[in-house]
Amino acid sequence: MGRSATVGRRPVVAVMTAFDTYQIGLVRGVVGVLSPRRIPLIVLTLDPQVDHLPSSLCCLLRHGAPQGVLATDYTRPEHGEELRGLLTELDLPAVHIAANDPGATCVRADNVDAMTMVMRHLLDECGVRRPAMIRGLAHVVDHAERERVLRSELAARGLPVDEGLFVDGQARHDIAAKAIRDLLRRRTDLDAVVATDDSAAIVAMEAVTERGLRVPEDVVVTGFDNYPTGALTWPGVTTVDQNLEEQGRTAARLLLARIAGEAADEHVLVPCTLVVRGSTRPVDPDRTGRAMAARAMAAAARTRAVHQDVQLSMSRALLACRGLSEIGDVLLSFGTRLGLRRCFLAASTEPSAHAATTPDCAVGGEGAGPHPLSRLVTVLRDDALLPVPEATFSSHELLPEHLHEELDGDLLVCQPLSLVDRNLGHLLLEQAMDAVPIAEGLRTDLSRVLSYFLGRQELQAHAETLERLVAERQARLRSEVETRQRTEEELQRANDALEQLVLADGLTQIANRVAFQRMMGRHWRAMRREGTELALAMIDVDHFKAFNDRYGHLTGDDALKTVARCLAEAARRPHDLACRYGGEEFVLLLPGSGTEAATIVVERFRTALGKAAIPHDASPTAPVVTVSVGIAVTRGRETDQPEDLLKAADEALYRAKSAGRDRVVQVTVPPLAAAGSDPAAAGSDPAASVPAPRPWSRRSGSSPTSAASRSAPG
Ligand code: GH3
Ligand code: MG
Ligand code: MG
Repeated sequence: MGRSATVGRRPVVAVMTAFDTYQIGLVRGVVGVLSPRRIPLIVLTLDPQVDHLPSSLCCLLRHGAPQGVLATDYTRPEHGEELRGLLTELDLPAVHIAANDPGATCVRADNVDAMTMVMRHLLDECGVRRPAMIRGLAHVVDHAERERVLRSELAARGLPVDEGLFVDGQARHDIAAKAIRDLLRRRTDLDAVVATDDSAAIVAMEAVTERGLRVPEDVVVTGFDNYPTGALTWPGVTTVDQNLEEQGRTAARLLLARIAGEAADEHVLVPCTLVVRGSTRPVDPDRTGRAMAARAMAAAARTRAVHQDVQLSMSRALLACRGLSEIGDVLLSFGTRLGLRRCFLAASTEPSAHAATTPDCAVGGEGAGPHPLSRLVTVLRDDALLPVPEATFSSHELLPEHLHEELDGDLLVCQPLSLVDRNLGHLLLEQAMDAVPIAEGLRTDLSRVLSYFLGRQELQAHAETLERLVAERQARLRSEVETRQRTEEELQRANDALEQLVLADGLTQIANRVAFQRMMGRHWRAMRREGTELALAMIDVDHFKAFNDRYGHLTGDDALKTVARCLAEAARRPHDLACRYGGEEFVLLLPGSGTEAATIVVERFRTALGKAAIPHDASPTAPVVTVSVGIAVTRGRETDQPEDLLKAADEALYRAKSAGRDRVVQVTVPPLAAAGSDPAAAGSDPAASVPAPRPWSRRSGSSPTSAASRSAPG
């Protein structure tokens, strides 16, 4: 608790297992003593599902400056041990109710006296001789005491104890119902059933009636506790009133004495009252008296039924809430009818946090971990919903700072909310003392509702986290893919450059012989497939040996570069390929071109070369560098192998050389059939043409050499 000892009124804290009929009875008495002294009472209920004390309780005891502590019995022994440890550590004055701890200040009902009254009523007034007993829990001191008194009172009257008439109800009405029915099947010679609580007494009355026996004429029945249900049966249950309010008052007074440092009795027994009803005494023979009793019972039953209807409707409405914000509306619309005065609902912002983990305010001191956070969901007071602050506050606080004054009222009940072992938040409420208690029902419903909405929020948050992770991962992958693509493109460019290097002629930079052969194969297959034409021109520089001899090898290289450039410029169509075949020999590969088109390209080249006018004094043909060209054209289906086309072009070139150089000879490769039927005609061409030499032509004096006939370029 973030509240210092000097601020507000220092409260008394009551630690209870629940806030139901029993505890409300005690609290009525406690408030009766504390309220006139302006001492607030904060009731903190334990969570039976969780091993540890709620951290809110530990923090309230440590930091909430309580004056003292009242504690009732525990459903879990761990809770009792932990609380005792904490009280010792903090040196807080404490009074235990319904406990019997040596060394501690305890208040309890005087069970022995109460049970003695019951037995006297049964044995001496009702004439019981063979009582059956539904025992409670063996380890509960009160229950054990009641059995002991029953035995001793029988013995005191010299009556035998019939062990066969003792059954175990274990303080659960379903177990008690089965046990008493089993007994009644075996035996009907009993004349009383003594139960250790009222609900066991009620099921015993049902079982006796089922067996055809009458209550109280044949079998009398008694209970214990004097809970409201015992007054709503017919006949009513004879029982013992534990005087819970008086126990509460006594405990509060003892605590105040302890706080004041006064000596207080260690163990105080509060006398009980025997409440005799119809289950042990024949119903009042007076008709008016009976009618009045019946009317009172009907009125009580109707009030209860109406209340239960309202509570059920609220329960349904809560479970139909579509959001946390709707909870307040439901509490507002039903709360007044249920006596709800104040209600604060706080939700944990970390619902997945295990409620079972040791709170850092627990025994042993402060933990180092950060406090989990809560935020208010509903603030209801004086029949109105108040604005809910946005800010979160430590889960170990009951309320945020600005609402701490609320803790100064006479009474506030705090219940931790959990489902299975998940901590969901807590509920603070004040209900009118005379209303039928709703705290336990609300706790269950609100735990379910909170669990659903907090779970949904958690799932949404989880989904968002997953989406973010996926998006991040995708971005990473995309960047990886892009890097990879860039690398691949760079690799491709490097490969292209390398291929270019492999396929380009080192001197002239046009395609080399490897490239030519590759493209030749490709175009050859296309031509065969599509039946198109394919032209091949073979070009040889005339008298180039003499050129070298005359001008030197380097000038020769330059001349070859010029020839290559003119050739490349002449081959304009995308698939046209100009290529250095080797030495001073070149080829032009012209897919889709016939003789006419090929001749145009070749003449374009020769014109360009003529314009370049590379001087060649040593040429007997012309004063400038000239070329001789052989053109061969084929339709693929007529020719078997690419070599046939090469051979034909080479032969045409040979003829151009022989005919005087500086000219073009065209041949058409004959059809296979023609070639096969007349081998002499192969390679020759009836349509071969030998154009006239250029104006500069001199008479050729040397014999030509064949390009295709050599394996390596010359
Ligand atoms: P023809 O008219 O009969 O073709 O006579 P030619 O001299 O051109 O023929 P030949 O085959 O006798 O000579 C070819 C010459 O080409 C021989 C060689 O020195 C020259 N040659 C081959 N490759 C290169 C080269 O890369 N650079 C230079 N500068 N000359 C080369
Ligand atoms: Mg040559
Ligand atoms: Mg030559």
